[in-house]
Amino acid sequence: MAKEIRTERLRKEYDADDRTVVANDDIDLTIEEGEFTTIVGPSGCGKTTLLRMIAGLQEPTSGRLYFGDEDVTDERPQDRDISMVFQNIALYPHMTVRENIGYALKIEGVPNEERAERVEEAAEILQIADQLEKKPDALSGGQQQRVALGAAFVKEPEIILFDEPMSDLDAKLRAELRVEVQQLHKRLDATVVYVTHDQTEAMTMSDTVVTLREGHVEQVAPPTELFDFPNSTYVAEFIGTPATNFLPVDLQLTDGTPTLRGFGMEIEVPSEELEPHVGETVDLGVRPQYLSAGGGSFELDVTIDVIEPLGTESVVHATRPDGEPIDFVTDDIAEIFPGDTVTVGFDEEDLIVFGPNGEAVVYGARLFDSASATQQIN
Ligand code: ATP
Repeated sequence: MAKEIRTERLRKEYDADDRTVVANDDIDLTIEEGEFTTIVGPSGCGKTTLLRMIAGLQEPTSGRLYFGDEDVTDERPQDRDISMVFQNIALYPHMTVRENIGYALKIEGVPNEERAERVEEAAEILQIADQLEKKPDALSGGQQQRVALGAAFVKEPEIILFDEPMSDLDAKLRAELRVEVQQLHKRLDATVVYVTHDQTEAMTMSDTVVTLREGHVEQVAPPTELFDFPNSTYVAEFIGTPATNFLPVDLQLTDGTPTLRGFGMEIEVPSEELEPHVGETVDLGVRPQYLSAGGGSFELDVTIDVIEPLGTESVVHATRPDGEPIDFVTDDIAEIFPGDTVTVGFDEEDLIVFGPNGEAVVYGARLFDSASATQQIN
């Protein structure tokens, strides 16, 4: 039975030299039962610490941890019904792949026949069914990590924890394993918590993504919501590739309506939320995917630097009129070359306005969509 994981002001401080590092700063978080939740953020933001506290490998400085209704804060790791997969692969070298995957089941006293079935099913999904009689040192790194994944899943625990399990593997293997891990999760009734600094993993695998920032939870949301409605410049920059473009613009009033001015553009954004920021410089955020070569309702000229073809689409790195970089994604590069100046544009529903403290204040997708909906109703 999958369990909800809930933290209540969970805190971890480390003593480092002559100072105290707050790795997790009173985190209140609910990880839904049975979901695949990714904890993402740059190096040092506290991901591993949080995961290790959930596993029981790290004692919190203060706060409580619950699995379902049960307070497990003081429970030993071996008494928690969890499996864990690390970046460093931990397999028994003297056991075969079959024995490694089935070891936990053997300890639990699962009968031979059922054990063989569960091991073979996992091995099939992980594409190592033909490796079952080999020892780990006869396997590649990718195959070894598949064995470790198999061992974690086959135990069918309430909770499975992953700490950057794929970071040592090459890109092709990571892409394959992303799919296999999801297939395994679908077959199980387990809550999965997956730590990574790789936002692609977070975006492709998760039901919910928890973005951490310096020991705090910055935003908790499904991947598409995180992409379209980041709550801060921090999330907008970290989630999505390439990162969101930010254009510093002045916020002024035009006949009482907040208006963004800069880069030759004038964009009326009729939102009361912006009023406190009138007279300030704010960031106009536009995702590279929503910036089109050829234009839109609002346009600016950019100079092409580098074009990265990725198959069906290309990432174009360019320079804005103020000398700062700007990226856009296009599926048509036939007509553009490095050194060219081209017009790129976006529509009002694609903009996000971030206030001077980095918090998202207005999402074009919400403001302008609801405005057009109201017009239609009227
Ligand atoms: P990474 O992606 O690099 O693994 P992370 O997001 O998992 O980073 P943590 O490993 O949880 O981050 O570390 C959070 C903070 O706590 C960092 O500043 C780190 O230097 C510090 N830290 C972690 N473990 C210890 C320790 N045992 N002693 C002192 N400081 C520590």
